[in-house]
Amino acid sequence: SAPPPATALLITPSAPISRELHGWRAKCLQRLVRMQLPVPRSFAIPADTVRMIAQGRRIQPDALLDIFAGSGLVSVRPSAAMPEWGGPGTVLNVGINDALHARLAEVIGRDNADAVYLSFVQSYAIHIARLDPDLFTQDGPDALAASLRHYQDEMDQPFPQDPTEQLSEVLRSMARAWDGPTARLLRQAKGAPADAPLGLVVQEMALALGPGICGSGTIQFIDPVTGTPRVTGRFRGQRHGATVGAGAETLFLTRDDRGPALEDTAPEIFADLVRFGIAARERLREEMQIEFVVTEGRISVIDATRVARGSRAGVRIAVSLARDGIIPPEEALMRVEPRALADLLHHQVDPRAPRDVIARGIDASPGAATGRIVFSAASAQSAHARGEPCILVRRETVPEDIRGMHASVAVLTERGGTTSHAAVIARGLGLPCIVGASGLTIDARARTVRAGSRILHEGDEITIDGSSGEVLAGAAVLLPPALDDAFTQLMDWAADAGGMGVRANADTPEDARAARRFQAQGIGLCRTEHMFFDAERLPAMREMIFADTPEDRRLSLDRILPMQRQDFASLFEIMAGLPVTIRLFDPPLHEFLPHDREGLRELAESLDLPLSDVTRRVEALTEFNPMLGMRGVRLGITVPEIYDMQARAIFEATVQASRKGDPVVPEIMIPLVSAMREVELVKTRIDAVAAAVRNEMRTDFTYRLGVMVETPRAALRAGDIAAHSAFLSFGTNDLTQMTYGLSRDDAGRFMGTYVGQGVYAEDPFHVLDQDGVGELLLIGVQRARAQAPGITLSVCGEHGGNPESIAFCHQAGVDYVSCSPFRVPVARLAAAQSAI
Ligand code: PEP
Ligand code: MG
Repeated sequence: SAPPPATALLITPSAPISRELHGWRAKCLQRLVRMQLPVPRSFAIPADTVRMIAQGRRIQPDALLDIFAGSGLVSVRPSAAMPEWGGPGTVLNVGINDALHARLAEVIGRDNADAVYLSFVQSYAIHIARLDPDLFTQDGPDALAASLRHYQDEMDQPFPQDPTEQLSEVLRSMARAWDGPTARLLRQAKGAPADAPLGLVVQEMALALGPGICGSGTIQFIDPVTGTPRVTGRFRGQRHGATVGAGAETLFLTRDDRGPALEDTAPEIFADLVRFGIAARERLREEMQIEFVVTEGRISVIDATRVARGSRAGVRIAVSLARDGIIPPEEALMRVEPRALADLLHHQVDPRAPRDVIARGIDASPGAATGRIVFSAASAQSAHARGEPCILVRRETVPEDIRGMHASVAVLTERGGTTSHAAVIARGLGLPCIVGASGLTIDARARTVRAGSRILHEGDEITIDGSSGEVLAGAAVLLPPALDDAFTQLMDWAADAGGMGVRANADTPEDARAARRFQAQGIGLCRTEHMFFDAERLPAMREMIFADTPEDRRLSLDRILPMQRQDFASLFEIMAGLPVTIRLFDPPLHEFLPHDREGLRELAESLDLPLSDVTRRVEALTEFNPMLGMRGVRLGITVPEIYDMQARAIFEATVQASRKGDPVVPEIMIPLVSAMREVELVKTRIDAVAAAVRNEMRTDFTYRLGVMVETPRAALRAGDIAAHSAFLSFGTNDLTQMTYGLSRDDAGRFMGTYVGQGVYAEDPFHVLDQDGVGELLLIGVQRARAQAPGITLSVCGEHGGNPESIAFCHQAGVDYVSCSPFRVPVARLAAAQSAI
């Protein structure tokens, strides 16, 4: 027969305890023992033994006997390899029987002894023997006798009196619970492997009931929300696990107006706890919460766990551990989850405050804001003018809504996914945004929005939590952004760690200033189309669209030229010496035309054309599939005057800015390329514009021409495209759209279902699909570098701000990523982590 399972191992400073075999709790207790803290005798049962116990094997009873040598009572706690994997609930007071009950009654009094025995009989009957809980919920003087009687009636045998039998049963039950389907699912969701091991810890129990100062409590030394030093916790006098003894009283730890404090009633105990806390932080290199018991004035440290913390506290704790020399700065960088930084840059709903959730959607842009509902961009602008914070609620947003979005404190749409218009713009503006809140029904005419059974009206106050995707009724309690010294320090260490470059996607002077504030290394993508929605430019733009000849088009565009020149001049000035990549005009022209009758009539009037003419022209520009139609470089080739004007504006701004400061070398980028010849044609024209401007302004300058790789063909043909380009930038938004054949604007409708059913592991517009789109990216990188080893390669799609995607880009050999300014800190940390 097989040898008996390895038995429990006493946790001593030198015992061979490992986290893999005995679990994190056993390992942590050993560290506390090594620090000579007063830890009760504890035994670790290794995972392979627990597995055999689950299969029905029993530990040799003699091996367990020694465990009861102390007070006679023991606790059993789970000890998985990682704390977040959880485990079966702790069982306390194992070992109590009639004899021990009688002995205890003499020390801690009859009532207390009864309470301890009763609590064990109840938990044993319910959780181990799995009897009906209703039979075991009594209280009062007869409860113990009644529970023992019920147990005997149900089981046809008396309550087990042999402590080793009790313990064997508890171990078996906990070992089995670990294999249950719920426990398995829960831990797998936390990243545990299917066969994750479970160790168990059996610990002698110190009594928290009886004469003198007795009780149990927890203490921690930082605020779990802000991370600032502060002692918090409770001491519960005369409370032993769930057993509440006579004279039970809860104390604050430090002096507090609300009631008595341990610091005053037992200053030595308090001082010892603080001393233990300081030592634990240094030795365990972590902020710990300590669980302790006091027995007649003597402290026992029974457990210590990592303090649960919010993102702000996470940053402050990591930075302060490194500043105190307890961990190196690189480790502080590794300890902070990059996406958690997004919470620091924005207002956040206070995690301690109640939330009245009325709808849920996709968390498209982080942060939280409260405002009154408006249903149109125009109402948003008037609310803004009145100084009232408002939230733009739309079915989806279109480019014309941009100024309404600017005027809002947050945006909520019923439709759309992570790269829909609303999501991309909101991230760029740093506005909290929820898209795809499909539970909402907006009635723009009645000016109401229905969420389940609730109807909200224009002017009603709501809070958007763009970090969680929750829409809350009313004004929630918000925490302000935390761009404090801890954040700045972490960012400085990230810069020291090197790694991939990070630039910002910035279209406006405001974006550019945010980019600088977050220390982006330049602008990696300036989308110029937003510049044409300006009230002054839109008419000229429309006039250009309606022009019949190239000459007329040029005349209309000449009106825009000075404004466009100023756009670029101010970006160059703000970025002072840092590279600025300007993408030539990309969207289909119909986006600049009105869509309703009213708008068409106004347009006809302003162009002085018959309505029928205007309607016909608008219809002629309508495309079935505009995102795959006449946009990007296709427009650049068929209506070249637009690119000519933009190139001229860029070069004139270059000369202007170079006269004032450092010489500017603009980077011009062509969108939606799929063939080398497109690049050649555009390059020829841009070179001609450059030559003309040099001539007219009698000065020299250089520029870099680059190509966006955002069609699958461009990735495949990256080699020959690279021959004509100084840089390539992967536009992974369009590349994802086209690789999957998945519309960026419509995917939100079924993305939830798709991710829910595991068709896609994640939304591929959010996290780069490494297997498919990623392979195209790798092919593109490799072919481009083979042709032009010195070429600059970057990623400027939304994935440039996503930590997992950034790690992939780093491995792929990309030089930099570019993302919305507010994601720059996240990207910088992720880039630093890839380099460490
Ligand atoms: C892209 O397609 O990835 C990109 C950056 O361009 P846009 O999002 O403007 O289409
Ligand atoms: Mg694109």
